[in-house]
Amino acid sequence: MVAMAAKRLFSLIPFTPAGRCMFAILACAPFFALVARHLWPVLQSPALLATTQPAMMAGLVVLIALLCAADAVLFALLWRRRHSLTPVPRLALGVALLQGTGYTLISFAFGHLTSPFAVTATISTAVIGCALLGWRVVLVAVYVNVPLSLALQGLINAGVLPYAPVLPAASFVGGQPVAWWAALRVEEFYIHVLLGGTFILWAFARFDRQRLELQTLSRTDGLTRLSNRRHFMERLEIEQRRAERYGSTFSLVLCDADHFKQVNDSHGHHTGDEVLRRLGSVLNGGLRIPADVAARLGGEEFALLLTECDEAEAARVCERLRRELKAQPFSAGGRPFGVTLSMGIAAWQGGSAEALLKTADARLYAAKAGGRDRVVATLAEAGT
Ligand code: GH3
Ligand code: MG
Ligand code: MG
Repeated sequence: MVAMAAKRLFSLIPFTPAGRCMFAILACAPFFALVARHLWPVLQSPALLATTQPAMMAGLVVLIALLCAADAVLFALLWRRRHSLTPVPRLALGVALLQGTGYTLISFAFGHLTSPFAVTATISTAVIGCALLGWRVVLVAVYVNVPLSLALQGLINAGVLPYAPVLPAASFVGGQPVAWWAALRVEEFYIHVLLGGTFILWAFARFDRQRLELQTLSRTDGLTRLSNRRHFMERLEIEQRRAERYGSTFSLVLCDADHFKQVNDSHGHHTGDEVLRRLGSVLNGGLRIPADVAARLGGEEFALLLTECDEAEAARVCERLRRELKAQPFSAGGRPFGVTLSMGIAAWQGGSAEALLKTADARLYAAKAGGRDRVVATLAEAGT
C-alpha cells in the first residue's frame, strides 16, 4: 500500500531538474506543517502565549504563511516544466533560499542551539539539498543563511533579541522538555528519517531506470531499432567463445541493400529511411531473437548472427529472408518499387572473428559481383 503510493508519487514527479526542485519543496512541507501544528495550541492558550514573545510569535506565523504561499507559487511554476530536461537554475535558487531561510528563522524562533530544526536544516542542506538542487544553488543558500544566523546570534548576545522567542516559558520542567516540545522533537526526527528514506528510494529507482534506458540506447541503432555495430561485435565475441567452449557452430551473415543509392535518388532520402526501417523489421522478424542478433552496421549494411546454425541452415534462413524482402510492396508517391538484398554467409569453424567477417565480406562481394539479389555461402556459388 505504502509502496504503491510511493510508486504513484514517483511517477508523478519525474527525475528532471524541475522534478527534483518539486521534491525538495515536498520534503520541506511536513516540517512547516509540524511547526504550525505545534504553534497552534500555544496560540490558542492566552496563558501559554503570554509566556512567549507575542510579537515574534506573530512574525513567525506570518513568515510560515508567506513561505507556504511562495512555495505554492514555485511548485506551480515547476509543475509546468516537470518533464523538461532543461535546468531551472533560478527556480532551484528560489527553492533553496526559501527553504534555507525558512529553516534558519524557524530554528531561531525555537532556539537554534537546542531545537532540532538546526540539525534538520544542516542535514537537509548537506545531503538532500545538494542531491536535489545541485551544490552551487545550495552554496548560495548557505552563504545567505550562515551570516543571517550569526547576525541573529549577535543580537541575542547583545540582549536585543531573546533566545527561543516563541517557546513558552513552561517548555522545560525540571530540566526535561514538556510533552508537546518533546513530541515535536521526536516527530521531527522521524519525519526526517522517512523523507530521507523516500528520497533515497526515489533517486535509486530513477537511476536504475535511466541506466537501463541508456544501456538500451547505447546498443540500439536509432533508425531501425536493431542492434548497432558495437552491440553486434560484443555478441559476436560472446558467441565465438561459446562455440569454442561447447564445440558448437554459428553463422555470420553480412547483408547489403542493392542499388540503394537509386532508391534515395529516385524517391528521396525520407523514403530511403523508411525502406531501411522495413528492411530491419523483415530481418529481425525472421530470426530467433534474442538467441540470434540482427544489427545495422551502418548505411544500408546489415549483419546477422545465427546461433547454433551451420552454413547450409544459414543459407536456408537467408534465402527465406531474401525472398520475403523481395516480396515486400514498396511505393513512393504512388510509384511502386522493389528492394533486394545481397548476402554473404560465413559459418564459424574456429579462428578469429575478424577472419570470419573477412570471409562473409568476400562472399557478400561475390554476391554483388554475381548479379546482386542473392545469397552466397561458398565462393564456388558466386555467379550462380
Ligand atoms: P550496391 O548494390 O553496390 O550496394 O549499391 P548501393 O547504391 O546500395 O551502394 P552505395 O555504397 O553506392 O550507396 C549506398 C547508399 O546508401 C548511399 C547512401 O545515400 C545510402 N545510405 C546510407 N545510409 C543511409 C541512411 O541512413 N538513410 C538513407 N536514406 N540512405 C542511406
Ligand atoms: Mg548497397
Ligand atoms: Mg554498402
